[in-house]
Amino acid sequence: MEDFDTLLDEASRVHGHLCPGQVLGVRMSVLGLRKIGIPDPKGKDRKNIIVFVEMDRCATDAVSSVTGCTLGHRTLKFMDFGKMAATFLNLKTGKAVRVIAKEESRLKAKEFFPETENKYAAQLEAYKIMDEKDLFDVMEVSVKLKPEDMPGRPLGRVKCDKCGEHVQDLREASKGGKVLCRPCAGQGYYEKLG
Ligand SMILES: [Zn+2]
Ligand SMILES: [Zn+2]
Repeated sequence: MEDFDTLLDEASRVHGHLCPGQVLGVRMSVLGLRKIGIPDPKGKDRKNIIVFVEMDRCATDAVSSVTGCTLGHRTLKFMDFGKMAATFLNLKTGKAVRVIAKEESRLKAKEFFPETENKYAAQLEAYKIMDEKDLFDVMEVSVKLKPEDMPGRPLGRVKCDKCGEHVQDLREASKGGKVLCRPCAGQGYYEKLG
């Protein structure tokens, strides 16, 4: 894998700016990948990795940049938990670790750079040099990935009985003997106007 500075440069380029989240996300990914034994996530190991991110914040882009995992490849799974944590899964061995950013690291960052007024600037620099164990907790976990969530060809394709739109990968809902897409089953996020 590339060195830390190269990974951070690339993450910042993809994300659009350098921020504490990029540093945290890069370090989180380096740790997670090492723990599951994936040295080359964008090369020979690219088919062997899935990452679950529990936040949709700056660090998420860094995790995607370092691991090469994306929504479009179905290798990046977004779990809407609002936590600064991610799980790295090695599909070949089944080994998985959940890496959680420690809350205390925010405060510790200030101790490293007490002179720096801007707390984000202090965090940014401190996150680069702090020990991994001060930044993160690592949890060994088991993840059961459903066949319909795996990369590869879509599993199933059905037509919604109500709106007529097509649904892939077993995301349909059944209600009263009808096959419905999730919005038509009352799980939508939008309301049609007009
Ligand atoms: Zn950012
Ligand atoms: Zn529908």
